[in-house]
Amino acid sequence: MSGFGFTPRTTLDNGIGRTGTIHTPHGEIQTPAFIAVGTKATVKAVLPESISELGAQAVLANAYHLYLQPGSDLIDEAGGLGRFMNWRGPTFTDSGGFQVMSLGSGFKKVIEMDAKRAEADHAVAPGKERLAHVDDDGVTFKSHLDGSKHRFTPEVSMRVQHQIGADIMFAFDELTHLHNSRGYQEEALERTRLWAERCLAEHRRLTEERVGKPYQALFGVIQGAQYEDLRRKACRDLGGMEVDGQSFDGFGYGGALEKENLGTICGWMSEELPFDKPRHLLGISEPDDFFAAVAAGADTFDCVNPSRVARNSAIYAADGRYNLSTARNRRLFEPLEDGCDCYTCTHYTRAYLHHLFKAKEMLASTLATIHNERFTVRLVDDIRASMDNDDFESFRDHFLGRFYGNSTGPSSVDTTN
Ligand SMILES: [Zn+2]
Repeated sequence: MSGFGFTPRTTLDNGIGRTGTIHTPHGEIQTPAFIAVGTKATVKAVLPESISELGAQAVLANAYHLYLQPGSDLIDEAGGLGRFMNWRGPTFTDSGGFQVMSLGSGFKKVIEMDAKRAEADHAVAPGKERLAHVDDDGVTFKSHLDGSKHRFTPEVSMRVQHQIGADIMFAFDELTHLHNSRGYQEEALERTRLWAERCLAEHRRLTEERVGKPYQALFGVIQGAQYEDLRRKACRDLGGMEVDGQSFDGFGYGGALEKENLGTICGWMSEELPFDKPRHLLGISEPDDFFAAVAAGADTFDCVNPSRVARNSAIYAADGRYNLSTARNRRLFEPLEDGCDCYTCTHYTRAYLHHLFKAKEMLASTLATIHNERFTVRLVDDIRASMDNDDFESFRDHFLGRFYGNSTGPSSVDTTN
């Protein structure tokens, strides 16, 4: 009677990738689905109404940021994240673990993903102070806003996420770096397993205590870096975990994943986890990743790139990504993308947006973000349709051939939230 569930529909020939429907108290999500990133309870520069109109099905906010500002208790008082930000559809929060850990070592994800670094379990980015310290009970960290000291434990993360009130939330986990030693990965994985049990217990307690609130689903986060045995073990541990009759409603694929191994590693996890529960891939960046993730069994994924690069005048189009600020757009009285049905493309020209970017007008970010978010939503809608129509591989080859045939290829833009 939780109001949460997942119904798989079509399965790809590999037996892993699938389409389906996630049911939440705030509506359904047709999967695979792109989840728009609204880190601080806003998709930057765009009205929630616009995000809804362009077809985004759900928004993901960040527990760490909202805990520090404005405070999760305040969001609780406002009636929860959806009501606070005027978003009527389903919502997600990530646990805050990623931000706590990555801000802690001063690395951005793009650097963490570099496996060629020497093993360094206690590495800190050059010129940065270590802001977070992990122990078996939790993480102590300094706020990136004012340097004040805070502590996240599994119980604190659950309380914060219950107060924020998203439909789907994630267990508190330890994010490791690819350059951590194998020994450290094992140690962190065991810590994450014990934290997962504590998250389930606290989640159950809070669900009973907060009577009358819509049910919030809890996803366990699978770590294990690039090690197949560790990833599979984590799936078996969390997949069958039950505390006081409470098990995970779904799973998050966590950790730094190298682009070239993304499909392989997601595939290991999808093979191990219960088929009837949804899986979310945390934070990917580019269209080719979407296809790899979906084929490897990810049902939902969040991606900050469409809105982030839009603010730097980078535009996604079927023929590849291009930059609006270049001189060739100055007198182009055409839509951003030929045939695009988004609000920006049906009302404005490249020449106008080129002007707005050059003049550093705020509207530039708004209009560019609407287009890039719509491009991404439409792409994932098309991927889903191709799976249901048994046409996934030819659609993928056609799309990627055209997209990367003309652009400079996947960028190195980082994907930190
Ligand atoms: Zn458009």
